[in-house]
Amino acid sequence: MKNNNKRLENQTCIVTGSSAGIGSAIAKALGCGGANVVVNYRKSKAEAEEVAHWIDNNADCGEALVLKGDVSKEEDVKNLFKKTIDHFGTVDVLVANAGVQIDHKLHEMPLEAWKKVIDVNLTGQFLCAKEAIIEFLRRGMRPDVSKSLGKIIHISSVHEEIPWAGHSNYAASKGGLLLLMESICQEYASSKIRCNSIAPGAIKTEINKEVWSSKEGMEQLLKLIPYKRIGVPDDIGKVASWLASDESEYINGTSIFVDGGMTCYPGFSSNG
Ligand code: NAD
Repeated sequence: MKNNNKRLENQTCIVTGSSAGIGSAIAKALGCGGANVVVNYRKSKAEAEEVAHWIDNNADCGEALVLKGDVSKEEDVKNLFKKTIDHFGTVDVLVANAGVQIDHKLHEMPLEAWKKVIDVNLTGQFLCAKEAIIEFLRRGMRPDVSKSLGKIIHISSVHEEIPWAGHSNYAASKGGLLLLMESICQEYASSKIRCNSIAPGAIKTEINKEVWSSKEGMEQLLKLIPYKRIGVPDDIGKVASWLASDESEYINGTSIFVDGGMTCYPGFSSNG
């Protein structure tokens, strides 16, 4: 990861669920842009501290702060924002990344599995976006750091568009997130808030280890990816850093698919 012109200097970013996987790559990429970064975790403090240590020891990066909090709990989210504002003064960028996947066939899905995925992947995104918007509106414009009042980046999935048998709770949470993101844009764009999503395809993390850790699983997966490689967390980190910066200032209310072409119906590549 290289310094990219300090395009996020003097800005503070909260990245939820950033002790591992895609979130940790996003936290590092934003740090490399010169931002201060809040590394939020739910359980794994040691991993979160490793990410923070990496940021703090990189001369190009801003400062890192490790904060615990479950995004599906309103009190935790309020506390996450309060502690961030107490420490850094404000919040400029929210990357709502935390997510879970609990798979069952629909007719076998316990209500708890449905609720848990919706609570984290959709309600958690709402709670974090709400606190971010409250802070953006309270703080007002800072023209010396950004042309926008604030930026929200939801980490969605190709499954906001592609239906997913056996994963209907996950697909419903990401489908709901698409309209949450678009509605936030419609409601707050005139206040100069930008709200977008990144929709990753298959990225090599813990969430899908069962698939990529076997040869057969990987072969099946690559059939779904026209670009013929699995994504890595850095693929998402780089896009998040750019999307948080003024380089993408006129992008608002959009999902950016980072998926090696997965949404281009690869099953039809040999005439269906
Ligand atoms: P991961 O399991 O490695 O990371 C998820 C992170 O979220 C973990 O750090 C976990 O501790 C945290 N988390 C879970 N519940 C939380 C809660 N209630 N409060 C705070 N943190 C919580 O998986 P990942 O692949 O890095 O997933 C990150 C995001 O990317 C998720 O929203 C996921 O849906 C999305 N995504 C991943 C892929 C992929 O292929 N890996 C594809 C599309 C979308």
